[in-house]
Amino acid sequence: MPVTTLDALLSEVRGCRACADHLPLGPRPVLRAATTARILVVGQAPGTRVHASGVPWDDPSGDRLRDWMGVDSATFYDERRIAIIPMGLCYPGKGPSGDLPPRRECAELWHERLLAHLVELRLVLLIGAYAVQHYGRSWRKPSLTAAVAGWREVPAPFVPLPHPSPRNIGWRLRNPWLESELVPELRRRVATVL
Ligand code: SF4
Repeated sequence: MPVTTLDALLSEVRGCRACADHLPLGPRPVLRAATTARILVVGQAPGTRVHASGVPWDDPSGDRLRDWMGVDSATFYDERRIAIIPMGLCYPGKGPSGDLPPRRECAELWHERLLAHLVELRLVLLIGAYAVQHYGRSWRKPSLTAAVAGWREVPAPFVPLPHPSPRNIGWRLRNPWLESELVPELRRRVATVL
């Protein structure tokens, strides 16, 4: 039995400054959750646009993710049904090739405590290498591509996915089974649990 309510925990998370010294734009945790959520989306970390708006997946990547899931924006942003908790809750800054990885301490600090409140989860979408590495320890594969390609063997409630960023178009073209096989099954599972 959790010792705090989810609302109290979310307030605690939103006040977190654990790695503030490393965040170029300062802490702004972006997450959504309710105890009734049946789907959890675990992405990477907010970019600058999401840091500014506070709305996760409000970009072309989010449009593609919603298309993969077969849900509209109203459903996607209904936290009573879909929780959104990235591996790093705050924008981590820029690196030499795109955004830096999510802060490692973030998931260790918060994910287990948050998930303890999400008792109705039926489906967990692991989006990108960081989420797959963190939650896929028991079925680890040598690469994200191998992990996603092996989606049929991944234990429920997890579904591994590549990042839906437009920059990943090359990956999707090289792996057409994603949209012809995995996406239809993902839509079926989403529709079943919602
Ligand atoms: S990234 Fe995570 S650990 Fe760091 S300040 Fe934000 S919420 Fe806290």
